[in-house]
Amino acid sequence: MKIENLTIKSAHEGLKNGDFTSVELTTAYLKKIEEKDEEIRAFVTVTKDLALKQAKEADEMIKRGEMTMLTGIPCAFKDNYLIKDEKCTASSKFLENYIAPYNATVVEKLKKQGAVFLGKTNLDEFAMGSSCEKSAFFATKNPRDLQRVPGGSSGGSAAAVAADMCVYALGTDTGGSIRQPASFCGVVGLKPTYGTVSRNGIIAFASSLDQAGPITKNVTDAQIVFEAIKGVDEYDSTTVEYVEEESNSFKIGVPKEYFAEGLDEKVKESIMVAIDQYRKMGAEIVDVSLPHTEYALACYYIIAPAEASANLARFDGLRYGQNIDGIIENRTNYFGSEVKKRIMLGTYTLSSGYYDAFYKKALKARTLIKNDFEEAFKKVDVILGPTSPCLPFKLGEKQEDPMAMYLSDIYTVSVNLAGLPAISIPSKNEGLPIGIHLIGQPFKEKALLKIANNYDR
Ligand code: GLN
Repeated sequence: MKIENLTIKSAHEGLKNGDFTSVELTTAYLKKIEEKDEEIRAFVTVTKDLALKQAKEADEMIKRGEMTMLTGIPCAFKDNYLIKDEKCTASSKFLENYIAPYNATVVEKLKKQGAVFLGKTNLDEFAMGSSCEKSAFFATKNPRDLQRVPGGSSGGSAAAVAADMCVYALGTDTGGSIRQPASFCGVVGLKPTYGTVSRNGIIAFASSLDQAGPITKNVTDAQIVFEAIKGVDEYDSTTVEYVEEESNSFKIGVPKEYFAEGLDEKVKESIMVAIDQYRKMGAEIVDVSLPHTEYALACYYIIAPAEASANLARFDGLRYGQNIDGIIENRTNYFGSEVKKRIMLGTYTLSSGYYDAFYKKALKARTLIKNDFEEAFKKVDVILGPTSPCLPFKLGEKQEDPMAMYLSDIYTVSVNLAGLPAISIPSKNEGLPIGIHLIGQPFKEKALLKIANNYDR
């Protein structure tokens, strides 16, 4: 059967009309993974037995008339989501043999809906990176150009969706890790408002920034998955209940700070075209200013490592790790260089004497960045810019230059610092994929998705 370009919606129709069963659909995706993933390397683990078992159950659900939008549809998870009794490595040697003892809340929710889990996708170790090259196992390739990176850290998820090796995938976004790979692979990536989707059972990187979200073929699919995974969870005290009102307002803010030096000309051109298309669709385009944008990257690269150093303290070789012989040996031998660097940086900025100079200052900057958005959102519904300042880069190109790598997060990190929802949607340019970044107001995903969908359609 043909699975190319299947979306959740079209797969759902096919299942509902009896054009194919979930077992047939799942088998087709497993075959595709077998053929294609040798080249792309999006998957760390393929959970074939689980997928086929779930597909059979989904077909039963469909027969019983208990179908939801996601029943019987094959998806993939970034390998930092726990799926009970399956490996969860976070693409780290440290957790190479770790078997998850329970399901993440998001996993549990999708399971209840009858989703089919094809496997676990590659990431930069512990989600620290922007290219998927920092995985301890292997680098994933960009399906749109095999010489290039798929972005990161949810690079495996974005590549799997782009290469039709699953219908949709789950990622996590601490500073751009859903949106930037979606942008690089020419697919859609949604980072929900902090607190809308449970983080329970997802390996923590920086807890005040982490959010789970979908990577999909289009905006409609992103909405479907978002609706299925959001909600209050007693295991994540930061989740909140809220009701969003319908809105037809269509004002788009364009921050001048996003078009400063360092932005690739092709990316800029493509974003300008998108702005023009929005104007033609009836959007009011408004100039806005986010004056503290220039501090976002520095602020993020203090706060995220600080929180990571605390979160990763649990990996001590006793509770997790390759052997129980030594705490230090485990941390020395089984963490990669990027992870060690961040733990050291984080420990340093939290230590007495440096706390005020770095960490506390970063927290203050974070408030200023958040206030900038609040001001801008008094005038507009969403803010538009590029997702990444550069095109998908070549494998190895930025490996030796961490600053260049960090700079690719320049537009995405401030969204996490402010806790906002944002989506990356592919622009309609020729050549390498470029992502349009739309940032919404807190808990106004519906409005954001509607405006994103206007373009996507
Ligand atoms: N690229 C960013 C980093 O390296 C963001 C990672 C993420 O969102 N998980 O920290």
